[in-house]
Amino acid sequence: MTDGTAGRPAPGAVGWTVPAAEALRAGPGYDLASLDRRSTPGFDGDKDAGRAAMQQRGEVLSVLQEQLYAHGRTGGDRSVLLVLQGMDTAGKGGVVRHVLGMVDPQGVALRAFGVPTPAEAAQHYLERIRAALPAPGRIGVFDRSHYEDVLVVRVEELVPVAQWEGRYDEIVAFEEEVAARGTTVVKVLLAVSYEEQAARLRRRLERPDKHWKYDPADIDARGRWGEYQEAYQAVLDRTSTPGAPWYVVPADRKWFARLAVTELLVEALEGLGLTWPEVDLDVAGELARLEATLP
Ligand code: ADP
Repeated sequence: MTDGTAGRPAPGAVGWTVPAAEALRAGPGYDLASLDRRSTPGFDGDKDAGRAAMQQRGEVLSVLQEQLYAHGRTGGDRSVLLVLQGMDTAGKGGVVRHVLGMVDPQGVALRAFGVPTPAEAAQHYLERIRAALPAPGRIGVFDRSHYEDVLVVRVEELVPVAQWEGRYDEIVAFEEEVAARGTTVVKVLLAVSYEEQAARLRRRLERPDKHWKYDPADIDARGRWGEYQEAYQAVLDRTSTPGAPWYVVPADRKWFARLAVTELLVEALEGLGLTWPEVDLDVAGELARLEATLP
């Protein structure tokens, strides 16, 4: 993705000192516990600069997305899959609304994964994931994903350890297969701090217009914060591969999280090296035919 540009931000990425993919990638030995969740790795600017950069890069993202869509419509096999994970209130919904909201919704395939339905639970856990993979030309977005099967499932002991233990390698193999079929997988962990989560949950409780978002079970999950962080660390250790790395985005500052995901998507799409499809079209002839329809 950053081949040949290592250390330099993507062209036009104002405020980034290095490519977002480089600043945020969870490489070998990555330590989630030491992350400052209010930090803005790779970005040298404040909230106003971040918002301006986001708008500017959103326009680039929109063009790249249209190119991807055109590629899919003309027989291309490439697609992008954004996998969003994070504790409750980390801002997954905000990323969907504010980042994907900058591109044509026709090109986006959004899927949220909740507690498996009885029919889903009767299948292998990757079946519902497979069924939701993006078609060529699309940006697929998973709001939660197959990673819940080694996160909530592990922490809440929904299946025995012997069963979830094998899933890390299985997920790595699955994602390799997905990548081999032309899908660039961009995995983002939105890392909110324990303190900021409390503030966000309190705001939900204080605002009647946010009560619909409040789930008493969120407090139960918060009570197992340490275990969830350990489960996330295991995910980073065992599933952040060169072909499908994890990006850890500090999420206490919403403006940064949204900017960072925008930039990661721009970099991923630019990495595809797409151009406008060449179409065999007799432009002069078609213009003449159009003229002939006019009075
Ligand atoms: P959100 O909390 O993201 O706004 P929901 O209220 O629909 O969305 O919650 C989704 C819930 O589904 C989460 O508690 C999550 O842990 C749970 N979930 C997702 N996938 C699984 C899974 N494979 N097994 C068990 N629970 C899951």
